[in-house]
Amino acid sequence: VVRSLRRTLKGVRVTAVRCFFPPVVAGDLRELRGALEGRRLQGFRRYGKYIFLLPEEGTPVAIHLRMTGQLLMAERDRSPDKHTHLEADLDLPGQKLVYRDVRKFGRFALAAGGVEWFVAEKRLGPDALTVTPAGLREALARTARCLKASLLDQSVVAGLGNIYTDEILHRVGISPRRPAREVREEEIGLLCESMREILYAAIADSGTTISDFVGLEGRRGGFQFALRVYGRKGEPCSRCGEPIQRSVVAGRGTWYCAVCQR
Ligand SMILES: [Zn+2]
Repeated sequence: VVRSLRRTLKGVRVTAVRCFFPPVVAGDLRELRGALEGRRLQGFRRYGKYIFLLPEEGTPVAIHLRMTGQLLMAERDRSPDKHTHLEADLDLPGQKLVYRDVRKFGRFALAAGGVEWFVAEKRLGPDALTVTPAGLREALARTARCLKASLLDQSVVAGLGNIYTDEILHRVGISPRRPAREVREEEIGLLCESMREILYAAIADSGTTISDFVGLEGRRGGFQFALRVYGRKGEPCSRCGEPIQRSVVAGRGTWYCAVCQR
């Protein structure tokens, strides 16, 4: 999403912001409008699961899409449907930026003290694409929880959700129930490698669409076809052929191979 935003909206001016469902803005709607209206978008960043719009001489705006949020380019004269909660008019002829969200859990917030301040305020751990084995080892050693719960905890490592965590653990061959502090040094190195490998592959495929995720142009991702365990209960494991199992770990549906991930 951030790559598409950069391609499409860099240098573009926001001329007006309309909100149809105020809870989508965490904080003051007028302040959010003040941060965006009349300003050019000069940059875009991502940290963990947050997207940041960086307006010129303004406060960064953080966006979290949660389960079903969609940032979309739309034609200016298209009227908003019931799932559209926010729109931004742009100085791009005939186009606008639209936020849709069926389940309404996504949020826009001002990062008043800047991106780094926001990351500290939300207590986000190192980003999953740049976390070092030493950093991950330190975070895992501090907890009594299982590995799956720890990897989902955004203060341990920022950016992993349920789907990618299951895929990463299968790739490395570790049980999601293993106590995090018992993960061995060489496995931590493999975990870091596997995070990058899977996340970059998913990004190259424009994401994973299980239900609602689409890119800025409205297209579904493609990585759901490359998933090896998530959602594949009963199908043969790609490594050993045994059926994939599903159970609940850390309160989340969890898919794994009981042979490869003892
Ligand atoms: Zn297997």
